[in-house]
Order: sequence, then structure tokens, then C-alpha cells
Amino acid sequence: MTNDDKTSIETSLAQACHYIDDVTGGINPPLQFSTTYARGADYEYLSRYSYTRSGNPSWEVLEKVCAELDGGVEALCFASGMAAVCAVLETVNSGEHVVAPRIMYHGSQDWLRRISARRSIGLTLFEASDLDALRAAIEPGKTSLVWIETPVNPTWDLIDIAAAADIAHEAGAILVVDATVSSPVTTRALDYGADIVFHSATKYLNGHSDVNAGILVGAQDDERWQDIKLVRTLMGGVLGPFDAWLLLRGMRTLFLRFEKASQNALRLAQHFEHDPRLEKVLYPGLESHPGHDIAKRQMTNGYGGMLSLLVRGDAEQAKMIAAATRIFLRATSLGGVESLIEHRASVEGPHSVVPPNLLRLSIGIENCDELIEDIEQSLSRLNQQ
Ligand SMILES: *Cc1c(COP(=O)(O)O)cnc(C)c1O
Repeated sequence: MTNDDKTSIETSLAQACHYIDDVTGGINPPLQFSTTYARGADYEYLSRYSYTRSGNPSWEVLEKVCAELDGGVEALCFASGMAAVCAVLETVNSGEHVVAPRIMYHGSQDWLRRISARRSIGLTLFEASDLDALRAAIEPGKTSLVWIETPVNPTWDLIDIAAAADIAHEAGAILVVDATVSSPVTTRALDYGADIVFHSATKYLNGHSDVNAGILVGAQDDERWQDIKLVRTLMGGVLGPFDAWLLLRGMRTLFLRFEKASQNALRLAQHFEHDPRLEKVLYPGLESHPGHDIAKRQMTNGYGGMLSLLVRGDAEQAKMIAAATRIFLRATSLGGVESLIEHRASVEGPHSVVPPNLLRLSIGIENCDELIEDIEQSLSRLNQQ
């Protein structure tokens, strides 16, 4: 494998960092399912592996590709996005304070609330689109971790990563960025000063809705990073060999998939932007979106495939539109090759702060005219009521 700075990420991804197997010359890594590794007669290890939970060959190419993709010193794969989120948050000590957006991925916020309640960890939530609110949320001497997500799910508000990093660092805190929705194709959070970037690899990185996985990439190999590694080993949220293999396979087409999804989403957003049946179309690629200026700077290779439609009407009418689609599949999740639609408040449950008339769309790589036509025919049901 090469780690040649001159190679573009696009090329590097397609070739899985120019992987060539040492033993066979194969251009894809082999699968090694062993959970344990033999020792020699003198009890010495025969390789650097001893037991699968503390490290195994199936993670290595994947983690190299991910580290290179985000420009970090090292990447760690986990059994799910949430396993990675929890591993980071496990390094926050009692008495410390965490800052996070008010609207964010609900699972991460649920975990933050849980550790805050059980371990005397302070938690302040801020309005994602307001940097002053982030500044005000900091408790000097106590805040040790600032968690952001950009674009924020499901309003797709943008957070300026460089500005957030300055605010966090001034307070002596680290900045962790959930970049699941932007993906490293368009935003490399570490380049803007983040300390750790997180991806639910279940989404764009894998891209085929068939692997649950999480990735962390660190900007520095420090004490906290080593601690996160230890948490992975001891809590055991480790990725299985076949899932690691599938994820790497999916990532080889990440660029193509993300570009096509971004093109489709932009066209769809523009098509419906002024539709009278909708209150608003939320998409960072639209000039009308409040985060568009930051998106222009921070999303350098497309605005991604995620958008939300605010229906003129209530939850029932929003659900009726979702019920009428023929191509969009009614399912949660995002970042797959197939387009999905969901009534987000129903998915998040009774504690959801998401507007009741919001439909979240994950745009895939299908024919864009057909996607637009599908939403058109679904919206036309609304008129007939
Ligand atoms: C899906 C998701 C997660 C959680 O990842 P899992 O792989 O489902 O555990 C975290 N953050 C965001 C933004 C997500 O979309």
C-alpha cells in the first residue's frame, strides 16, 4: 500500500490505497475469520495478532483507507456508528461538561443524556445555526468536549467547523465532528481543525444499506485516542471481518455514489423549492438555505443527498405523502444507493423536536426524472383532499 500525498482521494479510494496482497498479489484483501492466533513453542506470537477483539487483519486496509480519506493519523472501525460514538463519550469524566447541538442524531443525544444523568457530566445543548449560542454554552474550566454534527440531521443546518474548533480549543476542549451526512468526499473535518471525526459508516461509506459500522479518525495519537482504542477492546464493539470487507468494497465507489446523489438531490431540491404545496425545502445546496454560505466553503464537492420537505399541513398530511411514493422506499437510514423517505418525527418518537410536517429524504443514485416524478405524484394526492 502506498500513502502517496500526490494521489487524489478519488483514486486512492477506488484502489483501496493501491492494495496488493503480499502473499498472493490479490488486489483485494483476503478474509481472516480466526478469533485467536497461534503461538510458537516458546510461547512467542507468530504475528502481531493474538485475539480478534484487540486487533485483526480484516480491519487494517479499511482503517488505512479511512485515515487517508480524512487526513488523520489513524482510523478505528467499530461494530456500529453508535459503538464509535459511545467509545468517544466513554472518555469524558464525571464532573466534566459536554456541549452538543439541540437538534442532532437522536441516538447520540440519547446517549449524552444518559451519561449526563448517571455520571454527573454536565450537558448544554445549543442551537446549531448559532455560533454565539455555542460560545455561550461553553463552561470555562469544565467543558472538555464539544460535539457537533454538520449538516445537522434533519434540518441540514451547517456548523462552521473551523469556528467551532477555535471556540472549543480556546476553552481547552476537543472538537468531535459527526460528519456522517457530509462524508469525507465533500468535507474533511480534520482539515478545519476538528480533533476527531466520526462517521456512521452504515450510511455513505458503505452505501448499500447492508452493513452496520462506525469509523473514528483522529487528528493526533494522544492519550485520549489511546483510551478510545482501549474502550473499543474492552467494551468489545468490534467490527466483524466480513462486515469490514463489505465496507471496504462499498467504499471503493464512495466518490461516484456521493457525486450522483448530490446531483440528484440538488435537482430535486431546485425543482420543488417554490412548490406551493410545500412550506419549505431544506437543502444546503439551495441559496435560500440559511447554511448555504458555510456549505459553499465547507462542502467542497457537492452538497450531499440529504434533504427535507416541510409539507404545508400537519403530520397526517406529511405521512400521506410518504405513503404514496412508488420509487422512494419508506425506511429510515440514509446514504444508500436507493432513495428513502421517512416521517422523521414518527421515527424519533415522542421526544422528537423535529417539526411534525417534516419528511426526510435520502436521495440515491436512481434516475433523477423518475425521483422527481415520484414526489410530484405523491404531492398531487395532497391536492385531492
Ligand atoms: C446513523 C447515524 C448515527 C448512528 O450510526 P449507526 O451506524 O446507526 O449506529 C450517528 N449519526 C448520524 C448522523 C447518523 O445518521
